[in-house]
Amino acid sequence: MTFLNTFFLTDLYSGSPVEKVDIARRLYAVFFDQLPQIPQLSSTLITLQHHAMNLNVHMQSMGLGQLCSRCAAGPGGGCCSAYMADNCDVIQILLNLLMDVRVTFDTKSTVSCGFLGPSGCLFHIKPIFCLNYNCTHILRGAASQDLSVLYRFANTVLSGQTDAEAMLLSALPDLIKNGLISEDGLKSGT
Ligand code: SF4
Ligand code: SF4
Repeated sequence: MTFLNTFFLTDLYSGSPVEKVDIARRLYAVFFDQLPQIPQLSSTLITLQHHAMNLNVHMQSMGLGQLCSRCAAGPGGGCCSAYMADNCDVIQILLNLLMDVRVTFDTKSTVSCGFLGPSGCLFHIKPIFCLNYNCTHILRGAASQDLSVLYRFANTVLSGQTDAEAMLLSALPDLIKNGLISEDGLKSGT
């Protein structure tokens, strides 16, 4: 991890959303090829995607899609504001790319988060702040049983997300050592 601390961690967890998306795309090109060589990563991603889907289905069943659409269209808008996009990070974006999510960032979106599409957040795997966020509209309006299922599903996603992130980070030193990834290459795209 010392090697990663020195050379890479700043690039993975800071910078603008556009820079993070660019670096994640370059890492994706390497990780996609290396996927079969990284033990259990594919199965971890499949399980994580399944848990994220369960969470999404439950959120829809609670009517959060309509609630958030109404809220976002109202005065002051919803919680997915432009500055919230900074909560993304390279590894979280990479997880989505590895799940075939078409990640785009709308740089013209100065009010809403640039990752917010017409059907809501485009990520299957959201930034952890977003995953854990439940506003007062949700907390006051939802049945306690629905909320406890929501927390349980979100915790399951969080746990799987943390595991998958750790796998990707622990694979990086070998990829760096083997010359497949360099910091200059990540930043310049060469
Ligand atoms: S989570 Fe809450 S604040 Fe955010 S858009 Fe939905 S209802 Fe609005
Ligand atoms: S949930 Fe998605 S769209 Fe909303 S702020 Fe987070 S990343 Fe942006």
